[in-house]
Amino acid sequence: MTLLKAVRGTRDLLPPETELWNRVEATARRVFARYHFGEIRTPIFEDTSLFARSVGEETDIVSKEMYTWEDRARAQSEKSQSLTLRPENTAGVVRAYIEHKLDATGLLQKLFYIGPQFRRERPQKGRYRQFWQIGAEVIGPPSAGSESPLRDAEVLEMLASFLNELGITGWSLALNSVGSSADRPRYIAALREALKDKVPQMCADCQRRAETNPLRVLDCKVPEDQPVIETLPRIADYLDDASKAHFAAVLAALDACGVAYTINPRLVRGLDYYTRTTFEFTHGGLGAQNALLGGGRYDGLSEMLGGPKAPGIGFAMGLDRLVLMLQAAQGEAASALSDAYIAPLSEAQNAAALELARELRRAGLRVELGDGSFRLKKSFEMGNKLARVIVLLGEDEQRSGILTVKDFASGEQKKVARAELVKALRKQEI
Ligand code: ATP
Ligand code: MG
Repeated sequence: MTLLKAVRGTRDLLPPETELWNRVEATARRVFARYHFGEIRTPIFEDTSLFARSVGEETDIVSKEMYTWEDRARAQSEKSQSLTLRPENTAGVVRAYIEHKLDATGLLQKLFYIGPQFRRERPQKGRYRQFWQIGAEVIGPPSAGSESPLRDAEVLEMLASFLNELGITGWSLALNSVGSSADRPRYIAALREALKDKVPQMCADCQRRAETNPLRVLDCKVPEDQPVIETLPRIADYLDDASKAHFAAVLAALDACGVAYTINPRLVRGLDYYTRTTFEFTHGGLGAQNALLGGGRYDGLSEMLGGPKAPGIGFAMGLDRLVLMLQAAQGEAASALSDAYIAPLSEAQNAAALELARELRRAGLRVELGDGSFRLKKSFEMGNKLARVIVLLGEDEQRSGILTVKDFASGEQKKVARAELVKALRKQEI
């Protein structure tokens, strides 16, 4: 029989790696809470047209990377429907914002999510077909200040604080403004014009993008195309006064709080819904997949989905890549040892050993429980792999309430009264 394996581009996360995952998630929850973000959980699959309308038909994500299927009707009253595993979460959050009429609160909504996303990409280190994102959105009616450049700067400052608190240093923040929907058509026209005689020398993807989505040409990673891209018009020269003032205010606020950045006039990002500020945090330690996170403003997205005017800004970070960074920084984490391994010396002590383990665990200690069928040598070998100390529980110990405890690191063996055991283990006196 052929053995079944996790599907290409997906993987199992096992301990001790999952401890790092939990640490990243806990740090995000802690930091975001200080900015008063609340958690949102949207469904893993949505109507396909949600992504087609928001992310954009011509993007790589929608045109070739989505897991889409026709969900057959099960009853006369149902219609069959095209469904898609979410490739990103902003569309789902904005759909929920509209569906639950969150604009009626008149307040800014600050929502964060943590969850898996799905894209049929070529799997490689730091790039998977099921991957996790931690993201957040600040969205609301203009009267709540959702268009303010202060929101952009605050989100960027929060990200800098998050990465620092996680212990990730050496990141860089690149920023750009892609202008408003009013600026965009003039720039795209200029880009199309400039691309006319340059595009035959460019890669096949760029030739296609020049037709369908010329902005994406700027995002091309093919080294041979870079000199050509350098010569293309810059979006900064096509921004109207309002977009320029917005960008300048974001930069001034970042300067004021000391968040370092560089301006990358070619940063356009892969989703169609972005307006004005776009950004990316990268890290040299990640190799080819160097983007830790990306995001930007999406002032027209709610309206694109049939909702009210609700400007917003958000980001998504790759949890898989954050964990890769932490692993590289600290080396492979050793599995943490339990506080004690309890070894019943015969099966007659099994029940008493479980009772003792329960007592210690209720006191908050981490305890491994052996089995009375093990020979003493085996108990010591197992205990040594799993815990800091071994607690022997034989007939004598059970009767007298005086336990034999051995510390593996020092080799020291002691008698400890059962009533003193929790205190002694806590203080690491044994
Ligand atoms: P990239 O340029 O690396 O493909 P992207 O522009 O497609 O990234 P977004 O769609 O903005 O990325 O997603 C935000 C973040 O999610 C990325 O910065 C990255 O850390 C992570 N990410 C995106 N795609 C994957 C993937 N297939 N596997 C793992 N992480 C991913
Ligand atoms: Mg991508």
